[in-house]
Amino acid sequence: MAASVPLVLLIEDEPQMRRFLRATLRAHGYQVVEAGSAREGLAQVAGRNPEVILLDLGLPDRDGLEVTREIRRFATIPIIVISARGQEHDKVTALDLGADDYLTKPFGASELLARIRVALRHSASPPGTPPQPVFQVGELRVDLERRQVFRGTEEAHLTPTEYKLLAALIRHAGRVITHRQLLQEVWGPNYVGQSHYLRVYMAQLRHKLESDPARPRLLTTEPGVGYRLRDV
Ligand code: CA
Repeated sequence: MAASVPLVLLIEDEPQMRRFLRATLRAHGYQVVEAGSAREGLAQVAGRNPEVILLDLGLPDRDGLEVTREIRRFATIPIIVISARGQEHDKVTALDLGADDYLTKPFGASELLARIRVALRHSASPPGTPPQPVFQVGELRVDLERRQVFRGTEEAHLTPTEYKLLAALIRHAGRVITHRQLLQEVWGPNYVGQSHYLRVYMAQLRHKLESDPARPRLLTTEPGVGYRLRDV
């Protein structure tokens, strides 16, 4: 049997944007189903069972945040939110509500396709599956069983907190992770407002793992949102 073609659901009301998304996705071998409103979109999620959802935050009938919350009640399908500039706060809220990643308009085809590839890769191993024992990208290699970190052939010695932070980033590798999510996963729910912890520890990690900590290539900053660990 031929491998199935991934189905992408577009929930977006702007015809021009939909045209661009549809054309790009079809040209790259995806099947596309479309919805122009939140109501239609939610019906398609349940009815068509797509592999990835592209969700515009500015929909005519309901807020995209409500749609995210609603989808997360019954499905773990990756959600990539599409936001306009100036919707930074909504974007972060959507991620904290369980969206997987985001794209800010305007974005190009290669960015769109990269986000979808990462989302599909992650949904192939749903939450709860044991992680790969070794994570590797560029010069970085992390043995998650032995809790050992290497840069090239040299071992990098991380403090327990630095290691926890890196492990959290690895769990979300390729996708953005918000400040709030990181603080919660590494320090716990009482620390979600302590962004300065993150700045300090991220600087330490970069110092130990990046060849040029001032121009990070592995651990990148997503301004106003969070961080992303490259995974390819
Ligand atoms: Ca819109």
